[in-house]
This record gives sequence, C-alpha cells and structure tokens, in this order.
Amino acid sequence: MTNKKHQKFITNCVHGGNDIDKETGAIRRPLTMANSYRLPDDASKLNWSGTDELIYTRTTSANQRYLQEKLAILEGGEDCVVLATGVAALAGVFFTFLKSDSHIICTNVSYVAVYRLLHEYFPDKYGIEVSLVDTSNLQEIKKAIRPNTKLIHIETPGNPTTRISDIQEIAKVAKEAGVLLSVDSTFATPYLQQPLSLGADLVIHSLTKYINGHGDAMGGAVIGNKDLIDKIKLQAMVNMGGAISPFNAWLIMRGAVTLPLRMEQHSKSALKIAEFLESNPSVSFVAYPGLMSHPQHEIAKKQMSAFSGVISFGLHADVSTHNKFVNFLELIISAVSIGHDESLIVYTGPTDERNHFYPKEFENGHLRFSVGLEDPNDIIDDIKQSLKKCGL
Ligand SMILES: *Cc1c(COP(=O)(O)O)cnc(C)c1O
Repeated sequence: MTNKKHQKFITNCVHGGNDIDKETGAIRRPLTMANSYRLPDDASKLNWSGTDELIYTRTTSANQRYLQEKLAILEGGEDCVVLATGVAALAGVFFTFLKSDSHIICTNVSYVAVYRLLHEYFPDKYGIEVSLVDTSNLQEIKKAIRPNTKLIHIETPGNPTTRISDIQEIAKVAKEAGVLLSVDSTFATPYLQQPLSLGADLVIHSLTKYINGHGDAMGGAVIGNKDLIDKIKLQAMVNMGGAISPFNAWLIMRGAVTLPLRMEQHSKSALKIAEFLESNPSVSFVAYPGLMSHPQHEIAKKQMSAFSGVISFGLHADVSTHNKFVNFLELIISAVSIGHDESLIVYTGPTDERNHFYPKEFENGHLRFSVGLEDPNDIIDDIKQSLKKCGL
C-alpha cells in the first residue's frame, strides 16, 4: 500500500481538519467545551437552524466541524456530518430519506440496531416497507426493487458474518433504478475501502470503532454530497438531537491520526491469526475476508486494500465450552465493540435474534474476535492456552 493515493491519505490523516489556532498560535486546534457561541450584532436575519453557523452545539460545534473536515477529506466526499454514535448516524440516514409508504432494501445481516429499526420500528410504527435480502447476491437486490424504493443500505464487511457485498455492482443497480446507496463501512475504514469512489452516495461509520481506535469515545459519521448531508444535519442533528459532544469529537480527531498505521497492523495480525485458527482442528469455521476460503474473497480483494481486524469463528464444542474458552483467555478481553487497541472477543450463543439469517456454520453461535494491536504471537499463545484448558 505504498501507492500515491495512500501516501496522500496518510498525510491527510495527520493534517486534515487541523490548523494553527488563530488566538494563541497553538499548532493544534483547541477543544472548545461551549454549548453556545456569541451571536452577530444583528441576529434578525440569522437562520437559527443553520448548520453552517456556530450558534449552538446542537446545530454545530467547532470540534465537530474539524472532525467533519477531516473525514470528508479521507473518504473523498464533499461534506460530512458527525453525530453522537454510529447508530445515530444510521438512524439519521433512514429517518431523513424514508417516509411512510417508501421502501428500503437492506442487507439481512447487519448491525443489530439497524436490524431492529428496519425489521420492527420502521414497518410497525411508520408504515415503511422493508426488504431484508442477502446483498452479496446481486440478483436478490435486483428482484427486490420496487417503484417506491428510495434507499439500498449495505454493510460491508458485515457484522458479525464478515460477508462482503460488491459496492461497485450494487451502485450500478442503484443508479439505474434512481435509488440512493448507503454503505456502512465501519469494519473497513476509509484506509481500506472507499465506497464513494465505487459509486455509493453515502458512507456511514461508527467512529467508536477503528477511526477513534482507542475504545474511549463514541461517535458516528455520514459522508456524501453536501445536499444530502445538509438534509441529515437538519433532521438528525438539529431536530432529532443526535449531536456529538465536542470532547468526543476531539478524542476521535486525535485517534484518527494513526488510522493507517493501526489498520496495517490490525490487518496483518488478523490474517496471521485467521490462518492459525483455520489450521486448528478444534476450530469449526473461520470467517475472515482475507482467507481464500471466504466465499466473497475475490470481491473483498477487488474493493479493499487489506481485510481489517475482525474474525468470526466457532469451536467444535457446546455452548458452555465456548463460554469457558472466552473466560480462560488472559490477554484477550471478553467485551463487545471492535476496533480498539486491545483485543476483544464476544461469544454470541445460538439465541441471537438474527441467527436464522446467518450462514449455517454460525448455527451453534459464534465468537466475534476483534484482533488488537498486541503482538500476534502473544494473541495466538493466549488462544492456545485457553483451548488447552478447555480440553480442545
Ligand atoms: C458498532 C457498529 C455500529 C454502531 O455504532 P455505535 O457507535 O455503537 O452506535 C454500526 N455499524 C457497525 C458495522 C458496527 O460495528
């Protein structure tokens, strides 16, 4: 990954959104913990809900702006809105572009909050039509399109199956049908995958994960053309209140500087660990887009420059042994979330409400493993000692 595009990207990770502070000359833009800004002398003509003016932190804040500037550059988009969480960003997109009697096509295995919003709340409360389909299969998307389809939403790689959907091919279908395409690119980050350049209209991130990268702040972002982003700002932020705290925006800005270095290491370690797991007879399956055995490995290779740090796998063991395996681990922590510096693992048993959509091998539950920045050999040793204690 030493081509020019990535060199520019790395430079933008360092400098994007930063500037010299005009008041003090500090070489870092400061953290501004204020919720209101001085109004102009004549406020009579002010647009009180204008998201381009610094008026009130729910309409925009200084630190939010800096982070939006950085992320828009990194994704190659015209504009960006940063919100309180990844789910606020996703819900913001759905509430902005859907209304009663409109139709959305969404990937059938998605982040659990998306699944609940689209499987329950939107159809039941707002009369929105929803098709949950396997978006790794282009034919299923084509078949699902209706005259009232407004949005296709995909997540690639998908959480927790790591399934890959072909962004470029789906974008063509969306364009032809005059439908917007949004891509949850949280697992990939803009360093490994650039959906806008492949034809998507909106890219969504949980900033809580790799972009912040240090497990100490929550945030979400949507990147795209200014007219689309302005609509989300007004609806999701100003009128539904999903604004990010300036402190979290500042932390995420700081974390994002090292994104390329971290993604290189996460990807390198995860591939090594995925190969180790695949060769271990106690392991029943390994889902990682970097493995030749992954069903969409070729598509992953086409649209990602490496395969990120999340692996899902299972053991030839019952539910209680899976639990034991997680608890015997000493270095790897049993906790939700992904994309932190430390390795995190979560065992989800077969009672997961989305289980019927998962591939067959996920039937007895699965371990979702977010490979951290520790030495991969230490991680492998930890897995080995825990398997041994489980008698595997
Ligand atoms: C975690 C996650 C989200 C939700 O983000 P939050 O910041 O927890 O609200 C959305 N999509 C994916 C793929 C995720 O992994």
